[in-house]
This record gives sequence, structure tokens and C-alpha cells, in this order.
Amino acid sequence: MSKPNVFVTRLIPAKGLDVVQEFCNVDLWQGELPPGREELLKHAQGVDGLLCLLTDKIDGDVMDAAGPQLKVISNHAVGFDNIDIPAATARGIPVGNTPDVLTDATADFAFTLLMAAGRRVLEADRYIRAGKWKTWEPMTLLGADMNGTTLGLIGFGRIGKAMARRAAGFDMRVIYYDPSDNTTYTDLNATSVDFETLLIESDFISLHTPLTPDTRHLINAETLSKMKPNVVLINTSRGPVVDHDALYEALKSKRIFAAALDVTEPEPFPVEHPLFTLDNVIIMPHIASASKATRDKMSLMAAMNLIAGLKGEQLPNCVNPQVYK
Ligand code: NAD
Repeated sequence: MSKPNVFVTRLIPAKGLDVVQEFCNVDLWQGELPPGREELLKHAQGVDGLLCLLTDKIDGDVMDAAGPQLKVISNHAVGFDNIDIPAATARGIPVGNTPDVLTDATADFAFTLLMAAGRRVLEADRYIRAGKWKTWEPMTLLGADMNGTTLGLIGFGRIGKAMARRAAGFDMRVIYYDPSDNTTYTDLNATSVDFETLLIESDFISLHTPLTPDTRHLINAETLSKMKPNVVLINTSRGPVVDHDALYEALKSKRIFAAALDVTEPEPFPVEHPLFTLDNVIIMPHIASASKATRDKMSLMAAMNLIAGLKGEQLPNCVNPQVYK
């Protein structure tokens, strides 16, 4: 029997790629940058499966360019806002993602950013490199305490809960807002509050929602204006959850204390952006899940989703299980 044809849009760790290559004929994209629109449409033609990344916009046109034999779309990420899920469901195509395996790495990095922005780590490093360190100063580079403060988590799914577990070690009070959950978690010491209360009471706010029409620019001029002036805002969710122009104004005017962004709008984030002129913001190139072990596990999970779909089996992690009804 001939092997199924798949398009893999980027080099992924061997852990997953080897499995895909054993089972499939693989067209592996080798470009320095992700495939552009034309290339994506061209390489999708005739494939049975697509293994894609968050940098690939997979809409109905890509699915139609592939053709009716397309059996599965496997995203090498937990977020799937790059894929038109209703379009896939309408065509009966299951879409896979990679939950759980990146939860701890992402929460570790969100907490790293929380502390780094709160304690001005990168700014202090730049201060020394600029030759400004003349003596020990009682009033220089003062930052925020974690102990005894309130951490507000927006989105209390897998990564939000992992943040609550980390906050316990710093004796932080944890409150969260999640429209699909209002449980009081005694084990996590986390209490559900309404969105407004979270904005008003938190000292640190960390974003852990998917990107949806409801969460796009959830953090904007109005919501920033409700936050305490000492707030440190962390975004490891998706860039467009934050309005960057409003954030720039809030940071520049010291309306809030600091921010750290692992994700931006757009990505890559232009170095000319005014946010880069400010010392109280950290900007990272979307690396929250970037540990070797985590990326190995993500690639394997993406491979398993792909192969299950090609075999006509239910995907181990499927974001549109309605296709099986
Ligand atoms: P999850 O589905 O377990 O949790 C998301 C939670 O957000 C859910 O509980 C959901 O009810 C909640 N939510 C939905 N709409 C909301 C809203 N309007 N306000 C508040 N909460 C809302 O997902 P997860 O595994 O915790 O991942 C969360 C997101 O983090 C992903 O969708 C992805 O975009 C992002 N992520 C980024 C990285 C990175 O590298 N920076 C890594 C992993 C995940």
C-alpha cells in the first residue's frame, strides 16, 4: 500500500519528524521563513495530511487547495487560532493540537517574565552594560515584591492553573477570571472573581486565554485604566489579546509599572515599535514553550495526531470532535 502524502511546514524535532517520515511521504518545507500564501496553497495540493505551525494561516482556501482527500490537520501548538476551525469542521476534517505537554514550560516562562519584569532584571543588565553602575544605591532599580501580593490570572485552564501552583510558593493570593469556570479551588488557593474585580485588585496580571473574538484586545486603554499603578502585566497567550498602542501609553505614562510580552502583534515584532524605547517592558520572541524536552513532546504529539487522522482513527487531541458525530 502506498504511503500517504503530507506537507510539514517547518523542520520539527526528530522525535516527531522521524515518526511522520516512517509512515508518510513527507514534503518538508526547507525555507528560512515559513511558506508564503502561494507556496502554502501549492504545497497543500493533493496532500492527505498537513502538519502546520502557528505561523501558517490554514483557512478554507488551503483546505480546498489540498482537495477532498485531506484527512487531517495537525497543529504543532496548543493554540489553534491560525486555523479556521468551522471551515475544517464543515469539511469533516479533524484538527489536532498539543495540549498539556507544554503547560509547565509555558507557566515556568510566564513566571520567569513576571519576576524579571517585577524586579527589573533586563533593565539592570542594560544599566551595567551602559557603565551606569557607580556604587551600591539604596534607591536604584527598586522593583516589586511577590510575597503577599495578588496575582490575577485571566484564563484558568491548564496554564492558568499551573501559574497558581507556582504562585503558592511565593505566598501570593491568587484570583482568576474565566467565563467558563467560577469554582473556588482550595487546593490551588485560587478564587474566581469577575473581570472588573481582577483588574482592580491584582498586583500582577497574567494572560492565559486563547485568542478569540472575545479576547482580542481584551487588554486595552479602558481595562488598563482600571489597573493599579504598580501592576506588572504578563502576556504569554497570544499577541492580539493586548492592544500594544494602549499598552505603550500606559507604560510610558507609568499608568502601570511594567509589562512582559512573550507574544506580540505582529510577530515578528518590529524593532522600530515605540515599545522598544521603554525600559519597563520586556519583549520576547514567542519562546514560552521553548525547552528541548517540551518541543520533543510537542512534535511527537503532533505526529501522533497526524498519523491517527491518516489512519481514519480519532485524534488523541482533537479540537473539533464534532467531526466524529
Ligand atoms: P486551556 O484551553 O486549558 O485554557 C484556556 C482558558 O481560557 C479556558 O479555561 C477558557 O475557558 C478560558 N477563556 C476563554 N475565553 C476567555 C475570556 N474571554 N476570558 C478569560 N478566560 C477565557 O488552554 P491552555 O493550554 O491553558 O493555553 C492557553 C493559551 O495559551 C493557548 O490558547 C495559547 O494561545 C497560549 N499558549 C502560548 C504559548 C507560548 O508559547 N507563548 C504556549 C502555550 C500556550
